Amino acid sequence: MSCLFCKIANKEEPTDIIYEDDEVIAFKDIHPLAPVHVLIIPKKHLASIIDIKKEDIELVGKLIFVAKNIADEFKLSKDGYKLLFRVGSHGGQVVEHIHLHLIGGVRLSEDIHPI
Ligand code: AMP
Ligand code: ZN
Repeated sequence: MSCLFCKIANKEEPTDIIYEDDEVIAFKDIHPLAPVHVLIIPKKHLASIIDIKKEDIELVGKLIFVAKNIADEFKLSKDGYKLLFRVGSHGGQVVEHIHLHLIGGVRLSEDIHPI
């Protein structure tokens, strides 16, 4: 059974798609934390940054490049934004398919602290 984000990549789950090519898809986060909150994912299922191998370097780098281009489209480049990978349980990762958060459109607090 494929994971939620594999279903999104396969168009089996409706989402608001922002960008797509043969390797990457980007869509709006269903619970946005800011005016712009986009998730950029590889179409290939990789559960977590923990699982990436040397052969995935280019693909994971592409997620950042796509995020940068989307940020430009949304006019975020002047004031900046955050890019975030949550990794595993301590990192707060909920969906086990690599996703890069692009969050912006407002000044963001620094809320990283131990629970
Ligand atoms: P993380 O905590 O880093 O694993 O983030 C998972 C993100 O996926 C959260 O910000 C959720 O709001 C988002 N999310 C979960 N389900 C969906 C969905 N069906 N469409 C879009 N975003 C989703
Ligand atoms: Zn998946």
